[in-house]
Amino acid sequence: MSKNTDTALSQLPVAVIGSGPVGLAAAAHLLERGLTPIIFEAGDSPAAAVNAWGHIRLFSPWQYDVDAAARRLLEGTGWQEPDADTLPTGAELLELYLRPLAAVPSMSGALHLNSEVVAVTREGLDKTRTGGRENTPFLLRIRDESGSVSEHRVRAIIDASGTWNNPNPLGQAGLPAAGEAEAYAAGFITVPLPDVAGRERARFAGRHVLVVGAGHSAANSLLALGELAEQEPDTRISWAIRRSSAASVYGGGDLDGLPARGALGSRLRALVEEGRIELHTSFTITGFKAADSLTVVGSTPSGETQLDVDLLVPATGFRPSLDMLREIRLDLDPAVEAPRQLGPLIDPEFHSCGTVEPHGARLLAHPEKDFYIVGMKSYGRAPTFLMATGYEQVRSIAAALAGDQEAADKVELVLPETGVCSTDLGGSCDTDASCGTDSAAEEASCCGTPEPYTAAEPEAASSCCGTAPEPEPAASSCCSAPEPAFLGIPTGLAHGRSAREES
Ligand SMILES: Cc1cc2nc3c(=O)[nH]c(=O)nc-3n(C[C@H](O)[C@H](O)[C@H](O)COP(=O)(O)OP(=O)(O)OC[C@H]3O[C@@H](n4cnc5c(N)ncnc54)[C@H](O)[C@@H]3O)c2cc1C
Repeated sequence: MSKNTDTALSQLPVAVIGSGPVGLAAAAHLLERGLTPIIFEAGDSPAAAVNAWGHIRLFSPWQYDVDAAARRLLEGTGWQEPDADTLPTGAELLELYLRPLAAVPSMSGALHLNSEVVAVTREGLDKTRTGGRENTPFLLRIRDESGSVSEHRVRAIIDASGTWNNPNPLGQAGLPAAGEAEAYAAGFITVPLPDVAGRERARFAGRHVLVVGAGHSAANSLLALGELAEQEPDTRISWAIRRSSAASVYGGGDLDGLPARGALGSRLRALVEEGRIELHTSFTITGFKAADSLTVVGSTPSGETQLDVDLLVPATGFRPSLDMLREIRLDLDPAVEAPRQLGPLIDPEFHSCGTVEPHGARLLAHPEKDFYIVGMKSYGRAPTFLMATGYEQVRSIAAALAGDQEAADKVELVLPETGVCSTDLGGSCDTDASCGTDSAAEEASCCGTPEPYTAAEPEAASSCCGTAPEPEPAASSCCSAPEPAFLGIPTGLAHGRSAREES
């Protein structure tokens, strides 16, 4: 096991775990501050998670997807910034921004691919030891693709490892169902949001596929499977949800305030009503039996039900992996598993979307000095994270690590208002970015620049049009009435889960 030893704490690099959009932005801010980043990426390419969902179209246009320090770094390389108002796919985000950013020499020199962080601690001190802790280097244990392990000493850690690799279990009450691990191991359960109509088409065509979940990822996968089934009629689609009705996933149909969003919901509803998707409501998965096909055992109001399927697409959300942080003194919200002060601001029980005051080092601090969780992982189990929020997090943290507390405390983020998202049905994610077609996100973008959100402003329902000029009514209906901007990841509930339970 190799180890870098005997360097003064202040001379050591700052570790960034993960090279997604927020990890790379963190490194860019550290470089600007004269600090030395060392980036560990588990995958074999930068932003491996974004690469996995590359076929999905983002709902936030380029202007919210590029970090300011990253832009400054790229500007010196002749990089062409994509059009601010266009919605990229994940693949475009990777090819037109993240890969060029990771290739800037100061970044590529710091980036270690195939380097999974498996544990983090303070050198020579387990979690229970307090004396001298703050002046002791952190130690990261890294596993490479061959399984070899090395250790690295660093002065601070920014954990930007996301949640993509940790889908929630399919069983009830947050636990895996009996046989779930075996079903995964046998290859019956796919990654979330598989590219059913593209890269993985052959795997899905003509098979019986079960989608599990009632959020916008599920809707995304179901609509994509519906398209596949039109071309490959032997494809059979089932959909299992725990709720007694799929109404909240369908949205308002013809009565929906946003016609395009309603159309998407109507499309999904039509697929169900025409029998092209078999919907199983009040279905709680209790077990799996893996043989030639996968038997999914469910408890329903009418007793135990078994579904035999070829593949299962999980769409039950994500949670942070905290195992590697076992020796770090964390202070997490007990429900959301986000940093304690952030948790109540994003708890999906009470919030429907991504509106949260821009925040930085102070709010994200843990009892473990100079250790931060940022990006998607900082939101714990809440699904509403925005990249732009993460960019502000890492700007502030880099300033704090450089000793510039004033800059660390200053709020610099101007975010679009995303207070009321409601159901998006994944339309923001899976369709073309042209104006006036069929997604709520597209409507937001086709209306010009959304009204900015600043911390000083009171939270208010905003118009998707912001201050953009009134368009001709014939061009698009999206600006005809005040509507929320659809730039967050919606939970599908107007005011969080608690509102559904009350109604
Ligand atoms: C389908 C989809 C669409 C989205 N659309 C938008 C959008 O339109 N706008 C928006 O603002 N946000 C969007 N998001 C939310 C969020 O901004 C993205 O998920 C974004 O990629 C999060 O960036 P990140 O850097 O925090 O994490 P990630 O992009 O998930 O990157 C984490 C990286 O860490 C690596 N890693 C994981 N574990 C380890 C480890 N132990 N050691 C080393 N490396 C590790 C992973 O391989 C990965 O490369 C979307 C998310 C999804 C899933």
